[in-house]
Order: sequence, then C-alpha cells, then structure tokens
Amino acid sequence: LDQPFIKAKPVMETLEDNGYECFFVGGAVRDCLISRHIGDIDIATNATPNDMQRIFPKTVPVGIEHGTVLVIHNGESFEVTTYRTEGEYKDYRHPSEVSFVKDVKLDLSRRDFTINAIAMDLEGNLLDPFDGKKDLNERVIRTVGNPHDRFTEDPLRMLRGVRFVSQLNFNLDEATLTAISEQHHLLNKISVERITDELVKLFKHANINSALKIIRQTGMDQSLPIFKDRHHIFSRLNKMVFNQPLNHAGVMFAIFHLIDPNISLHTWTKTYKVSNNIKRKAIHLIDSYKSYQDQGMSNVVLYNVGKQLPDLLQIIKLFNLKSYNIKELQSQYQSLPIKDRSELIVTGQNLLQWFPHEKRGQWIGKYLNRIEEAVIKGELQNSREEIESKVREWKRQEND
Ligand code: ATP
Ligand code: MG
Repeated sequence: LDQPFIKAKPVMETLEDNGYECFFVGGAVRDCLISRHIGDIDIATNATPNDMQRIFPKTVPVGIEHGTVLVIHNGESFEVTTYRTEGEYKDYRHPSEVSFVKDVKLDLSRRDFTINAIAMDLEGNLLDPFDGKKDLNERVIRTVGNPHDRFTEDPLRMLRGVRFVSQLNFNLDEATLTAISEQHHLLNKISVERITDELVKLFKHANINSALKIIRQTGMDQSLPIFKDRHHIFSRLNKMVFNQPLNHAGVMFAIFHLIDPNISLHTWTKTYKVSNNIKRKAIHLIDSYKSYQDQGMSNVVLYNVGKQLPDLLQIIKLFNLKSYNIKELQSQYQSLPIKDRSELIVTGQNLLQWFPHEKRGQWIGKYLNRIEEAVIKGELQNSREEIESKVREWKRQEND
C-alpha cells in the first residue's frame, strides 16, 4: 500500500471495527495502479452519514445529502461516501435522487469510466467488475456501460473524458468517442460552472494538445460557450503547441482573449463565471504581455509582472514560440533597483513638501509613476536628493 493509503488506514479500520464494509475508490486507486502521483483519497462504505458521524470524533458534513462526510484524522481529511446510486439527472445538473445502496458493485456501476470504477481494500485486493484494470493497462478511457446512456444521464462526463485524456495521456474508446460526436450538444444543458471546472483541469494537465484534438475531431467545441459561435478561436487554439500544463485558470483565459482580442476578457470571465481573483490575474497578464510586445523583456516589464513571470513566459512561448531562460530573468529581476512601489525612498508627502504651493491632486500620482519608472530603468537613483533635483527639473520643464 502506498503512503497516502497508509495514512487513511486508521479511518478504514475504524469503519471495519464497527462492522462496516469499506473500500478505497476513484482517482486514488486508478493513479496508484498506474504509479501516478496520488491525490485525494476517497473511501466508499456501507455506513450511512449518520453512522460515520457517530463513530468518528471529527467529521465535517460536506455533502450529507449525497452521502459524503469528511473525516478528519491526524490533521488530514478523507472523503467518505456511502455506497449510492443516482436516479435520473432530470435537470442535467444534479441527479434527481440519490439512493444509498448496500452493494459496492452498484456504487461502482454509477461511476463514469471503468478506470475510475475500481475498488481496493486494505490488503490491496481489487474489486473490478468492469475490467478497469485492463483498460488502465491498455490506456483506454471507456464508460461504464453504454456511453450514449451514460452521457445522456450526465453530459459533463463527455468533457471529463477529454479532461482525462489530458491528465493521463490515454485514448478514448471508439464507442465512447462516437457517442461524444453524436451527443456533445447535451453539454448545452449543464451548468457552466461544471464546464469551467473541467476545462480548467484539462489545461492544468500535460497532454493538452491530445485533448484539444479530440474536442475538434468530435465537434465538441461547437457545444462550448463562446467557442460555439466562433469557429476560428478553437482552430487557433488547436494549432498552438502546449508543451507544458498551464499554471492556472488566469493563464487560460488570458490566452483565450489574446487569440481574438475582439472578445473581451470580461465576456470570457462572465460567460464562464470565474472568480474575480482569476479575472484579475488574467488582466494583469494581458497587460504585461502587451508591454512585453512593445518593449521586449525590459526591466519595466519584469517589474510589473513580478510574481506572475512564469505565467507570462508561458504566454510568450505559446504566441511567439520564444523561450527565455527563467534563471537569467530571475536574476535580472533580483537586480532591479526596487521590486515594489513601497521601496521608493520618497512618497507623496515628500512631493508636497518640495512644492508647498501646490494643492494635492493627480499630479502626485503622475510624478510618483514617473519616478518609479525612471528608477526601475536605472535612469534615476533611488535616493532622496537625486529624486528631488530630478523632480524639480521636470517641474521647471513643465512650467516653461
Ligand atoms: P482527479 O485525480 O482529477 O481527482 P478523480 O477520478 O478522483 O480524478 P473526481 O472528479 O475527483 O475525479 O471524482 C472522483 C470519482 O467520482 C471519479 O473517479 C468517479 O468514479 C466518480 N465521478 C466523479 N464525477 C462523476 C460523474 N460526473 N459521473 C460519474 N462518476 C463520477
Ligand atoms: Mg479526485
């Protein structure tokens, strides 16, 4: 058993000691079997949420109605979910009903792909009713059961399938692929938040180009917001060479906007309902990229992009096929005279002292910007005397 599973062992043992059955399930089992890094540990059990809250001292009811309880043990949290099946997905968002069941096989049968439908016990024995292990070995993503039915139940699974292509570098099974070509329009019915989530994950993994190729080939892009009305954006995207995962969603939305600046970043982020934090990062990147286009990798660009330098380099590489030595840029950044406005030796107060007859106003901000830029460019020392005499010179020129 790998380390993450060993950490979860006491949780499994507590369940068993109380007479319940339990298995490791989902992505952790899959990743363990192909020796990939193991993420969150999910546990499935015949204990109900009530049972779990009774036998574990520390729990968080994260999704009781779906049977999920977070069990906290030794500072780590484990998702424990009661075996369940799902009723119809009437609104294509949530199953209309969740029923708890006694048999783990029924729980495995509601899962999306065979590779995600393997259960493993504490001894490492597998319960694999859908031959997920075989598909793992053959690197195939195949739905549990008839793909048409499974995609009608929950259309998001189509996008999840493509996301796993990027994540695992597997192929989609032929029938699964055909079903996507025929049913991708059902994606129009599901909530955009779920789509955004999967799209972001797709771009956070390594095999972006393989996934994009499948989206293009199945026509799925015609069922994705904004892309569906603008064929050319996806074609451009498809031609780019993504040779590393994107750092975060902000980079992804910046790229979308830069492909066709006629579609504002605001339109992208509003349509895909992303957080203001992601939006802010994207805006900052786009601004940095524009100044990079004007002036190359100048001190000013480095200063302004700051911590987002790795993101900017991803964008430059994608659009200009130019790569920089990040170590060199980092040392260029380290040798900047200042790294933040707060490191300027003067403030607005100083300006007011030097020009006692001037009123407060926008001129202060303008001068501070000008000082900041001159210091970053190395044209002006960050010293009080130098700055004062320079500012007086600027003022004189302005008054002439
Ligand atoms: P990751 O490593 O990215 O977390 P994962 O396989 O754990 O991959 P999750 O989205 O965390 O994916 O879901 C956990 C498990 O729940 C999946 O392995 C799958 O068995 C099941 N699952 C998740 N979403 C669906 C869905 N829409 N339909 C059916 N089963 C699903
Ligand atoms: Mg997971």
